[in-house]
Amino acid sequence: MIHDVAIIGAGIAGASLAAALGEGVRVLILEGEDHPGYHTTGRSNAFWHATYGGPQIAPLTLASREPLEEFLSPRGVMTLAHRDSVADLGRMEADYAGMGIRFAMLDRPALEGVLPGLRPEWTAALMEPEGFDIDVAGYHAHCLKQARQQGGTLVTRARVSGLSRQNGVWTVETSAGQFDAALLVNAAGAWADEVAVLAGARPMGVQPYRRTIIQLELAQPVDPDLPMVIDTHGTFYFKPEGANRVWLSPHDETPSPACDAAPEEMDIAVAIDRFQAVMDWPIRRVERSWAGLRSFAPDRLPLFGPDPDVDGLWWCAGQGGFGIQTAPAAAQLCASLIRKEALPLWLAGVDAPAYAPARLI
Ligand SMILES: Cc1cc2nc3c(=O)[nH]c(=O)nc-3n(C[C@H](O)[C@H](O)[C@H](O)COP(=O)(O)OP(=O)(O)OC[C@H]3O[C@@H](n4cnc5c(N)ncnc54)[C@H](O)[C@@H]3O)c2cc1C
Repeated sequence: MIHDVAIIGAGIAGASLAAALGEGVRVLILEGEDHPGYHTTGRSNAFWHATYGGPQIAPLTLASREPLEEFLSPRGVMTLAHRDSVADLGRMEADYAGMGIRFAMLDRPALEGVLPGLRPEWTAALMEPEGFDIDVAGYHAHCLKQARQQGGTLVTRARVSGLSRQNGVWTVETSAGQFDAALLVNAAGAWADEVAVLAGARPMGVQPYRRTIIQLELAQPVDPDLPMVIDTHGTFYFKPEGANRVWLSPHDETPSPACDAAPEEMDIAVAIDRFQAVMDWPIRRVERSWAGLRSFAPDRLPLFGPDPDVDGLWWCAGQGGFGIQTAPAAAQLCASLIRKEALPLWLAGVDAPAYAPARLI
């Protein structure tokens, strides 16, 4: 059987695209691991934050909000400024003017009301009431289920090791056997460049960077509904996880080869040090820690669209640190391009050429 589209990678990128391709497209998803979502998708901070990733990512994030609605829980997010960097908050607000994002500036007295225990050097914050926890596993499973209901097939333990194309048909060699497809989508996350090379395409310079998260047990209770907190310089973020736990990241970004990423002791120590410089919350212990790879193209914009050189090869990669919160819009954008259809109205604010791989050549 010749599939219409074979997608390499069953993380959020591949799963959401398989769902968005819709009825009437014979979709095959090939995943190298035992379980879809094992790599970056299963390791995220599970958050929707309109301004995360910059003004060129915000249209994808904003468009994705409604399709994600049933998987979102309100939390809010605040960008915290040290007393030396309060001016950054005004600049940040200006960067997103006209996008319909709600902001509220908080001074120190207001901050004390919202975030008890905040150390005195932190004197202002920009609050975005619309920040949400995402049920990532729920949304990922929903996409895979929809793909299956549309007749799609997911094959796990199918690591792709060879790709060739003849007479408009790709032959895909995997550890689970050989498959044929008319079109191929590279949704291989940290391995995107390696897959491109297998397909005879030039690598786009997709670089994986390690990011660490630790779960701390606190020696005092905190309000579990506190907003997520991030700083203007991007040196940490944290959010409560229940009544006496936080998820904390040192916002590390260490270049890494594509691999099964694991946290380093030094990054855990840095995270705790930075947290203690912000919050006067006693820590009981580090309960667990994990790391994942956030993969970026050189200009830090994602790669959505056809390969510039190789016919029949498409990219859905380079989603960096925003691949969950942008997944519905990204998937629909790629699906519309593949199906040669106009973008739906809900993607009216999305500038498709800005994400085309051809921009990098
Ligand atoms: C610590 C951390 C926090 C994050 N927080 C957030 C957040 O709060 N909000 C947000 O929106 N985003 C967040 N992100 C980013 C988000 O997780 C990623 O952008 C997203 O998961 C990328 O999805 P993906 O499907 O491209 O990659 P992956 O989930 O890594 O999927 C790629 C898949 O391709 C498979 N594959 C690779 N090569 C082959 C091959 N040759 N054959 C077969 N299969 C192959 C892999 O096994 C893998 O399963 C975070 C990331 C990290 C690491």
